[in-house]
Amino acid sequence: MGESMATKKHPKYIFVVGGVISGVGKGVASSSIAKLLQDRGLSVTAIKIDPYINIDAGTMNPTEHGEVFVLSDGDETDQDMGNYERFLNIDLTRTNYMTTGRVYQTVIERERNLEYHGKCVEVVPHIPLEIIRRIEKARKDARADVVLIEVGGTVGEYQNMLFLEAARMMKVRNPHDIFFIVVSYLPVPSKVGEMKTKPTQNAVRTLNASGIQPDFIIARAESALDAKRKEKLSFATSVPAKQIISAPDVESIYDIPLNFEREHFGDILCALADLKCSKKETPARRNWKKFAAKVHGAKEEVQIAVIGKYFETGDYVLSDSYLSVIEAIKYSAYAEGKKPVLTWLNSAEFETPARLDGRSGGNPKRVEDLKKYDGIIVPGGFGTRGVEGKIRAIEFARKHKIPYFGLCYGMQMLVIEYARNVLHLKDANTREVNPDAKNIIIDIMENQKEILAKKNMGNTMRLGAFPAVLKKGSVAAMAYGKTKITERHRHRYEVNNAYVSALETAGLVFSGRSPDGNLMEIAELPKSVHPFFLGVQFHPEFLARPLAPHPLFTAFIKAATTKKKK
Ligand code: GLN
Repeated sequence: MGESMATKKHPKYIFVVGGVISGVGKGVASSSIAKLLQDRGLSVTAIKIDPYINIDAGTMNPTEHGEVFVLSDGDETDQDMGNYERFLNIDLTRTNYMTTGRVYQTVIERERNLEYHGKCVEVVPHIPLEIIRRIEKARKDARADVVLIEVGGTVGEYQNMLFLEAARMMKVRNPHDIFFIVVSYLPVPSKVGEMKTKPTQNAVRTLNASGIQPDFIIARAESALDAKRKEKLSFATSVPAKQIISAPDVESIYDIPLNFEREHFGDILCALADLKCSKKETPARRNWKKFAAKVHGAKEEVQIAVIGKYFETGDYVLSDSYLSVIEAIKYSAYAEGKKPVLTWLNSAEFETPARLDGRSGGNPKRVEDLKKYDGIIVPGGFGTRGVEGKIRAIEFARKHKIPYFGLCYGMQMLVIEYARNVLHLKDANTREVNPDAKNIIIDIMENQKEILAKKNMGNTMRLGAFPAVLKKGSVAAMAYGKTKITERHRHRYEVNNAYVSALETAGLVFSGRSPDGNLMEIAELPKSVHPFFLGVQFHPEFLARPLAPHPLFTAFIKAATTKKKK
């Protein structure tokens, strides 16, 4: 979308900051605000700021910080970037993602290159200036009318201070183009039974101490705010009552933009920021409404088991670790009019006490229990733990014709399972798990050897979008409806070509390969042999969008629905 004339000279920047507590859905709220504006015909882009020192999210364990979301350009980012891409149906780039580490790294590099011309380089103003440069560059690259900037953490934290200072400096320069929204939380203490506004009042005061007055408060709470509380909060914070937006808990996050519309958030924001917004309901908005209604309309269940390992911090973190996978399943299920029911199974539970690498596994759970699911997914993963359990589950799915979809590590395990149980290469393994195995079916990529030797782990996997060519008539090609695709990757290992022809002779089809034919991208069994047994070396979940479900997830859900009927 091009820039509209009205805002070309004056792009608007909207900062979203958190108040009171984290984890109340600031990312989804920010995505929803961006969506309101995009649905009014504006070109919108979004930036996520993470205050940590890490250069990117790639070096963090998913149980620490949730899923690592990979962009097409290979940047390993925060899961909120996924929310933006999904809600806005746009592709973001590394300029849309910022961490403290990145900002400091650039300033230090510039200092070493004498780019500050002999000046003393200081935390203020040089760090905020670099933050501003990055924000403005992201706007320019996207040719956006509006930039939504989500500042990680909550106000009052030491960590995000310099980002708020950058925002304040921008406001001083362009008072009419910079806006602030606080996503706050209003608790209802059980013994008191009344919604309390004080923590939000204090959060706004803390923000005021940074020289920032919010234009809007998004009031996250169990229920909607009543007029009395809006008035009270308005009086205490100087935010006009109509600019205090209720954001009650919702069953489906896709209702949030619609709830915001009910509070006239979009119209008020357009008027306040003097944006040229379409008054009519755009097709984009109508399509979202239809999608949100489908979510509530889906009644018939499809039971999907997800077999992974990032469980130890409890269910809450678990679902965060596989956020894009969950979303991708949902979009395809809703498109088929089905209600997805996901069950999380810890792969270690399928292991027998004695594993091939000699270490002991978890409590062996009867794999036969997997019969009750309509489909099984093994998502991406790293390392040794739980691997044997995954392989056993895949073997069961293959033999009992339960639809199976393997994502990245889930594809590598599929190939190992086939090598072990069909080619009878008993010690078949990936170098990642057992470098001493005689049959290394999944091996390190050639260019990765040096990287690993140097322990150069950050941002060095095969990352981002790469093309692949599909075999005509294969399950994959039929699902996509074409033979040339591009998908996002994040892996160090790949199928060892020395075994490809033996595996193919034994019936496994490598239906997707890199254009030079060297990298195996998709492995599958023909439809005549199994209703759906397919693994992909890439991460299709990163390209699934609410209004554009991913064809492979849809093919998997269709197969699962067919199994259910039998
Ligand atoms: N651990 C495997 C690799 O590095 C798979 C990675 C993944 O599942 N994202 O190749």
